[in-house]
Amino acid sequence: MAEIIDGKKISQQIKDELKDKVEALKANGKTGALAVIQVGEDPASSVYVRNKKNACAYIGIESLAYELPEETSEEALLKLIGELNEKEQVKGILVQLPLPNHICEDKIIQAISLKKDVDGFHPQSVGAMTIGEPGFLSCTPAGVIQLLKRSNVEISGKHCVVIGRSNIVGKPMALLMLRENATVTVTHSRTQNLKEICRQADILIVAMGKPRFIGAEYVKEGAVVIDVGIHRDENNKLCGDVKYEEVQQVASAITPVPGGVGPMTIAMLMSNCVQSIEEE
Ligand code: NAP
Repeated sequence: MAEIIDGKKISQQIKDELKDKVEALKANGKTGALAVIQVGEDPASSVYVRNKKNACAYIGIESLAYELPEETSEEALLKLIGELNEKEQVKGILVQLPLPNHICEDKIIQAISLKKDVDGFHPQSVGAMTIGEPGFLSCTPAGVIQLLKRSNVEISGKHCVVIGRSNIVGKPMALLMLRENATVTVTHSRTQNLKEICRQADILIVAMGKPRFIGAEYVKEGAVVIDVGIHRDENNKLCGDVKYEEVQQVASAITPVPGGVGPMTIAMLMSNCVQSIEEE
């Protein structure tokens, strides 16, 4: 039976470490706020935004909420971002995605000052990560690295298979595993022999957005399985991309959903905010 990699516990440790750091920074006169912008009232986004504000309150940094109506124009949003870029107290700017269809997400992401890009989505932040330069790391993949390291999973030299190649999870995930000296294979919807490739993985990271897709037949005995997927099933219960009950019988360690990767994303966002305050 697999060991459970407890994202709730590990994210709590990280937030407690950050809380101490924020206190020390305050003692040195360094403070800052995270600006959180939500356009529209998507219920899932509202939950994420609330969790982010709560996390800020917990570690002791200010959060500034901008709740804008669905019909907000791209121009108005760009103007707000321009103002926040100039505000000294604002050390991080987060625009909750997805945005309404009439707003170009790429344009919005690129308008955020690099120094305040705490989501790590700006093309220059991604470029810096790719060549190993300092900068903000994309939160979910960085959270997975922390989960593995803090669970004492050896990464160096291991074969890591990543399922998914999105800009926010799969690609940065593969790059960060490469940075940790794993041998990385990236798979996607056109990959042939997905099962055979996955069965070669020492570490299997699943970010495909398909509820309960990956069963035990995709997993090598003793592999570590990280499930990034989040879905609500037909009974409104949260589940991941992995068939947890059967995969935990073959894996040596596994993340549950909920309570695995999810809480780590917010912890890493907080870590980026603290980094931004430190670097001012
Ligand atoms: P996405 O943009 O939909 O990307 C899915 C990726 O999976 C694509 O690269 C796609 O390939 C690949 N894929 C789809 N079906 C496949 C198949 N049958 N075989 C192999 N590959 C397949 O999703 P995402 O934004 O990366 O998110 C992935 C999952 O993680 C979602 O469930 C999302 O909700 C969750 N998520 C969780 C967190 C968190 O904090 N825990 C954060 C972000 C996302 P193609 O490129 O060929 O289409």
